[in-house]
Amino acid sequence: MKTLLLSRAALEGRTVDVLIEGNRFKTISETPIEGTFDRTIDASGKILVPPFYNGHTHAAMNLLRGYADDLQLMDWLQNHIWPAEAHLDDPIVYAGTRLSILEMIKSGTVFFNDMYWYAPAVLRAAEDMKVRAAIARQAIETSPGVNNPTNVESNSILESMIGSCSSRVFLTYAPHAIYTVCGDSLREMHAKAADEKSYYHIHVAETRTEIESCAKLHGGMTPVAYLDSLGVLDDRTIMAHCVHLSDDDIRIIRERSAVIVHNAQSNLKLDSGFFPFKRAVSDGGCRAILGTDGCSSNNSMSMFSEMKTAALMAKTVADDPTVAPAAQVLEMATAGGAAAFGIDAGVIAEGRLADAMLLDSSNSLLVPGFNLASDLVYAADSSCVDTVVCDGNVLMENRVVPGEDEIVEAARDAAARLVRG
Ligand SMILES: [Zn+2]
Repeated sequence: MKTLLLSRAALEGRTVDVLIEGNRFKTISETPIEGTFDRTIDASGKILVPPFYNGHTHAAMNLLRGYADDLQLMDWLQNHIWPAEAHLDDPIVYAGTRLSILEMIKSGTVFFNDMYWYAPAVLRAAEDMKVRAAIARQAIETSPGVNNPTNVESNSILESMIGSCSSRVFLTYAPHAIYTVCGDSLREMHAKAADEKSYYHIHVAETRTEIESCAKLHGGMTPVAYLDSLGVLDDRTIMAHCVHLSDDDIRIIRERSAVIVHNAQSNLKLDSGFFPFKRAVSDGGCRAILGTDGCSSNNSMSMFSEMKTAALMAKTVADDPTVAPAAQVLEMATAGGAAAFGIDAGVIAEGRLADAMLLDSSNSLLVPGFNLASDLVYAADSSCVDTVVCDGNVLMENRVVPGEDEIVEAARDAAARLVRG
């Protein structure tokens, strides 16, 4: 089994050696670990922490970063994003996803829960770059019960690929939203997800328009109540956004143990509204994690800025600075994110999957270093991340990701093709 030693790292105030055997933490010891190892990283002066788990992405949209901003939602979608997306193909999505994964690694993220077109390219990119990923079998219907043929083809390719992939990647069922997938299909996909113990990934209650049209179509119900009436809410249901929630919605989500993915920056940029953090999480007891959403509505994949925005927004919305304390927000982005997808990681401990990052303690953003959680949520950025390990593999050391130049060049070419058509 291959071995990796992180020597003399700072972990929760101690100096430790960390031995990784295969893909798990084998030994964490204050006494130096002697022996010969396949690779040793000198971690002195570095702080060892869990990396980030991004709960909701459309990774390949990194190719549309800055392409159309500061517009009304429907103008943005109908006149800019959808026409560009009409030019998507497998190589473009592969190039865009690799750019996105590069950005994620450089900002300390090792997992993303994706939903996008040409998902086999997303799966290949995740495998090639050795990160963890949940890949969507996406449904967006052209008429009730009829999935878009591009998705049908992608989903069948995904199913033929997944058997020979690493344990880092898995498939989800991903009906896009209640307004793009009919009730029968929402139920059918959930039955398959339940059969396979797979996850069910859907956009929920993102905009006011969605709330209004749901009430009109479904007898006054909210999107959460409608999904509950279909029986599709459980602890494997991953609900992106949940911006507009009634008290009853919050009770339902808590009782079903469904997972909310809070995408603070996307919600702010698209003017979707303010997630009720205090009502839903602090007081309501719902499970919630963090996501960046697609890059064209963010416009980065950094979980650092996502954490900061989520914490600040929660305080202002609740008119209470004690809401969303740093340690809680950090947990949502790390251990909570991993746990929501059944990934045995997000904590640095013997026996757990070996996902970690080393932070450069001499970076001015981490000085003087009174409270690491506060520093990570409110001050740090990607420049603090020195080394990233996922599943026992070193993805970045000294801020260098192998192949970076080629990934960036390929993404520039793909973006040009995407907007030119
Ligand atoms: Zn989304």
